[in-house]
Amino acid sequence: MAFSDIPDAALLGPDPEPARVREPAFSPAARPQARTVLIAGSGPAAMEAALAVRAFGGPHLHVQMLTPATAYVHRPLSVVEPFAAGRVRSYELARLGELGIRVHRGTLASVDAASRLVRTGEGRELRYDFLLVATGAQARGAVPHALTFGGPAQIEAMHGVIQDMEGGWSRRIAFVAPRGATWTLPLYELALQTAQRASDACLDAEIFLVTHERAPLEVFGPTGAELGETLLRDAGVRLITGADPSVPQAGRLVPRPGDAPLDVDRIVALPVPVGRPVPGLPADGRGFLPVDAHGRVRGVGHVYAAGDGTSGEIKQGGLGTQMADAAAESILVDAGLRTDASPFEGVLRATLIAGPRPMYLRRRLREADGDVSDRTMWWPPGKIAGHRLAPFLDALDTEDGAESVERAIERRRSGVRRRVAVVAREVAR
Ligand SMILES: Cc1cc2nc3c(=O)[nH]c(=O)nc-3n(C[C@H](O)[C@H](O)[C@H](O)COP(=O)(O)OP(=O)(O)OC[C@H]3O[C@@H](n4cnc5c(N)ncnc54)[C@H](O)[C@@H]3O)c2cc1C
Repeated sequence: MAFSDIPDAALLGPDPEPARVREPAFSPAARPQARTVLIAGSGPAAMEAALAVRAFGGPHLHVQMLTPATAYVHRPLSVVEPFAAGRVRSYELARLGELGIRVHRGTLASVDAASRLVRTGEGRELRYDFLLVATGAQARGAVPHALTFGGPAQIEAMHGVIQDMEGGWSRRIAFVAPRGATWTLPLYELALQTAQRASDACLDAEIFLVTHERAPLEVFGPTGAELGETLLRDAGVRLITGADPSVPQAGRLVPRPGDAPLDVDRIVALPVPVGRPVPGLPADGRGFLPVDAHGRVRGVGHVYAAGDGTSGEIKQGGLGTQMADAAAESILVDAGLRTDASPFEGVLRATLIAGPRPMYLRRRLREADGDVSDRTMWWPPGKIAGHRLAPFLDALDTEDGAESVERAIERRRSGVRRRVAVVAREVAR
């Protein structure tokens, strides 16, 4: 890594990431017997948990993962790839082997908590001392006659929507967040980029954003809503909030019961997350794992959970990594390797990429309002701001000679700021 690429601390804003998992207070001689932490899944929550336990469990905890995947896919960048503004990157899970993390290929099928045993979909049995479930949620389509955009698998189809608009086949496109889609930021990124593309090509397109939220980007509080309103207005996107959309027939969208229908050529909708119940573990009414603030699955000893698969209200990668950190701390406490664990509190962090000027948004969940900035407020400037995951992916990018979209954007911006400062100094001389 070229150290000149690392921006001045002053550019990072007032809230550099706090160190979350502190050094453990244990004596290495105290725990000669290594125990197994089995982590099911390999998304952001599982990766963050594996890195945190690995870092602080030392030789006392063996970290193993159980996943059907062979790579970690950085899903958030799927919103820019249809516009050729970046590519989704994937990282081989085999690289975790270098950290001593063993990856079992397979799926979690059931848990026998009394025997601390996991059965896999492939008929194997794996023993654990501590089990952390981070198998995510199912993405369910909730809007008929729509392209349900859930990530990399829909990049091609979304690209087709853009091509149809450019070719004049589609003129009116609606982007829809149905009730239950709590992380709506990707929809704003898709709608704003579509509007930008239409404007760049001087197309006579009409773009709608129809959302169940009371205000745009509502999870970021009034400041986020103001930013959302401004961006949509400037881009000419028509906003309909408080929606409970239905599509009685293809091309006919009714935003709220009793509303006049909107005739549209294409509808792009967010999926609604639904839980993946695990036999042997409890589930709430929607199939999510109920957890306490320390990531412990309620009523089951030695089982923890983090990420979209838990009962947490907002399904977001950054929050999932924070849950994973809280669960990792609990495991360290329960393993006798530390004396206290911080509860999950939740700070939403997001990079909204829509055109040449990304915006950074943040809100502590316990506060009513958040803040926005055109400078990154955390580093590295990843879209999933995991305390350990983001630097880990950044290091892999650097080693591969690649650069993440997020870092490239921030480097360009820092470069512009540096050049502006140099010119200003020269003018002053
Ligand atoms: C288009 C889009 C954009 C997004 N943008 C952002 C963003 O900018 N910032 C942000 O923070 N979040 C964003 N998100 C949300 C974020 O992607 C999710 O919240 C996050 O991926 C959830 O992480 P997770 O680890 O809980 O689950 P997942 O990422 O869903 O990972 C689940 C893992 O479990 C594995 N698995 C599934 N079933 C089993 C099983 N039975 N046994 C073992 N393993 C299993 C899967 O293979 C996968 O590895 C976005 C989501 C989408 C769809």
